[in-house]
Amino acid sequence: MQSPAFFILPMHMNEAMGPSYLGRILLHWCEKCHVPVLAERCNCGTATRAVPVTPSGDARRAFKEDIESINTIYMNHFGAPLIPSGHIALLNKIPGRDRMEEVVVGVGISGSIRYIPEEQRWEPYPRPEAIAQLTPKKTLCDGR
Ligand SMILES: [Zn+2]
Repeated sequence: MQSPAFFILPMHMNEAMGPSYLGRILLHWCEKCHVPVLAERCNCGTATRAVPVTPSGDARRAFKEDIESINTIYMNHFGAPLIPSGHIALLNKIPGRDRMEEVVVGVGISGSIRYIPEEQRWEPYPRPEAIAQLTPKKTLCDGR
């Protein structure tokens, strides 16, 4: 009898290989115009700064509903929103078993959100760059 012509990699093997990535990440940020740019120079003439997102770097603009959802997650945990009102934010999907997205605000990654399927909830992961926008209002003693 002939064996099947496909392979299923064990989960640990897939994670150990790391994310597949082809080509350069094109995402840059113009600090003069405060907009994402897919080039090393903005139309205004200013040199842009590369945004160090996780490969594959296929970031998309966060819509109003995305921003409200992310800010609710951060409000519930820290008592403060991650994305300030009126700011452009981008979402970059991180490869992995569960859904996780980096949140780009300005030239840096302010944080991430990860879905915990067993608990059917989202978990926030702020980055040091978030300190420019996020001032936690909750303490460990809140809610106890
Ligand atoms: Zn510009």
